[in-house]
Amino acid sequence: MSLKVWMNGELVAAEEAKIGVYDHGLLYGDGVFEGIRTYQGIAFRLQQHLERLYRSAEAIRLVIPYTPQQLSGAIYETMKANGQSEAYIRLAVTRGVGDLGVDPITTKGPTVFIITDKMALYPKEMYEKGMSIITAKTIRTPSGSLNPKIKSMNYLNNILAKIEASDAGVAEALMLNYEGYVAECTGDNIFIVREGKVLTSPVASGILEGITRDCVLELAGQNGIEAKETNLLPDDLYGADECFLTGTAAEIIPVTKIDGRTIGTGEPGPITKLLIESFHKYVNSQGHSKPPGSP
Ligand code: PMP
Repeated sequence: MSLKVWMNGELVAAEEAKIGVYDHGLLYGDGVFEGIRTYQGIAFRLQQHLERLYRSAEAIRLVIPYTPQQLSGAIYETMKANGQSEAYIRLAVTRGVGDLGVDPITTKGPTVFIITDKMALYPKEMYEKGMSIITAKTIRTPSGSLNPKIKSMNYLNNILAKIEASDAGVAEALMLNYEGYVAECTGDNIFIVREGKVLTSPVASGILEGITRDCVLELAGQNGIEAKETNLLPDDLYGADECFLTGTAAEIIPVTKIDGRTIGTGEPGPITKLLIESFHKYVNSQGHSKPPGSP
């Protein structure tokens, strides 16, 4: 049985779920999206993902023709139609079909679709031994050009850095901002541990406000670990005691090598391991869809 995809209010077979060649999402990367996952059949922090989607849409002046409640319902409807209890969810809103030319004024209304599929994870070994990453030469798009806070369908900046990672034989690439500070990886946020403190680049450094990142900052606090958002230089990373990445699919993954330089002892560190354990406990508990501590 083929998977069903939700498209503009209807469930259609995946092979029938097609985007027109005049869709500005395809022609110009004009659209926004979210990558969401479930735990125990419940979408992790769905409200935060939807809020980010609507914020991204507003930033590019795209009006989503559904309410958050409708989209939330559509996600579960799609999972049900696919007989899935767990899924990786891709929710996308394109500018829709229009004339050639970048002006959105010619478009006739957004194309909204939801794919519920299986998770694609990093190999298990990377979680146990840590992963190697490189620093890409491609810098993260400056906020004044296209703010990385906007989860737009235009991912070429990240794709170019990801190709650099592949060329170097590693799974992820770190991107610096135009000032030379650490921004984020192509699909994950980055953290270091220094003298017992957890540090991560501030949103103002030009990054996506990762939902896993938020969760990890909260969990650090709950575990009595000081967590701070601060500008970091590549040297701060090389000299860190520990390093890890966060993302919806990756969850928390230790980094033990950057640009061929060993981080800390070269093995996943104690605070990284504690946060991974704490994260697993949290997502396996009831109420993970809401921030910890909320009613
Ligand atoms: N940065 C970028 C560029 C991303 O695409 C993502 C999501 N894959 C993240 C960070 C992590 O965000 P989240 O924890 O919300 O998945």
